[in-house]
Amino acid sequence: MNYRHIYHAGNFADVLKHAVLARLVTYLGQKDKAFRVIDTHAGIGLYDLASEEAQKTGEWLEGIGRLLSEPLPAAVEPLLAPYLAAVRAVNDGDRVLRYPGSPMIVRHLLRPQDRLSALELHPDDYETLHRLFDGDFQVRVTHLDGWLSLGAHLPPKEKRGLVLVDPPFEKEGEYERLVDGLEKAHRRFPGGTYCLWYPLKRGAPIDAFYAALRESGIPKMIAVELSVRSDRETTGLSGSGLVIVNPPFTLEGELAVLLPFLKERLAQDRFAGTRVVRLAGETG
Ligand code: SAM
Repeated sequence: MNYRHIYHAGNFADVLKHAVLARLVTYLGQKDKAFRVIDTHAGIGLYDLASEEAQKTGEWLEGIGRLLSEPLPAAVEPLLAPYLAAVRAVNDGDRVLRYPGSPMIVRHLLRPQDRLSALELHPDDYETLHRLFDGDFQVRVTHLDGWLSLGAHLPPKEKRGLVLVDPPFEKEGEYERLVDGLEKAHRRFPGGTYCLWYPLKRGAPIDAFYAALRESGIPKMIAVELSVRSDRETTGLSGSGLVIVNPPFTLEGELAVLLPFLKERLAQDRFAGTRVVRLAGETG
């Protein structure tokens, strides 16, 4: 396990993932009934952007740094408000020195009746995350392979909730693993909302990934993508995507406002682009 998210925290891929994650959790909070979020690959929860690692790549400057570099358009502001409230909650004033990871963003949006289960396999990262939420009875941090939780922890006892699957993609076959994991999870918890992260880069098997998702027979599913640059100039990420199963009926309308804005603000060259692909069914 070599992947450490500190090098990437707050980058353009985190901005898309966390902005959408916050929309999904906010939607769940519109009904009184309790929900649970399961974060299968949780990371350490809070990232020091002044650290040597974050400074070394400077990736956050092209993500959350750019996002906050100018005021937000009026139509975008309320859509990003839940996400940015979580970012501001870990910083003093408007300077961003720390960046919240997915468990911290989710925690910020929980109501007293809601719960978060966060899984992390790296022993040091697990320890850090466990310490961060020590004494918080709404959060359970577990040192476990997140893929296993897609069987063992589903359905949650609340019977309502969201599963975030955000693996590091450091091994071959992660796209296939994502589809297998989703199929297994969806059989156990078909009513859950799922948000699965995947990278866009040169040679990424996106067509085969979409085909496998379509073949799964899962009835309501979209993919949301933001590319910030051409994949010809870099061997690294050129963008990222999210597969969302059982998206709230409000989400596509929100994305129609958010995605063009994110593209404009985060674009690194003229090949930046966005798309929403309906992989299955009428959403909503
Ligand atoms: N979800 C986090 C966020 O948005 O702030 C970032 C997670 S990072 C992309 C992936 C994390 O998964 C790393 O912290 C890594 O140590 C952890 N990890 C790798 N393999 C894992 C596994 N099989 N089960 C659980 N965690 C794993």
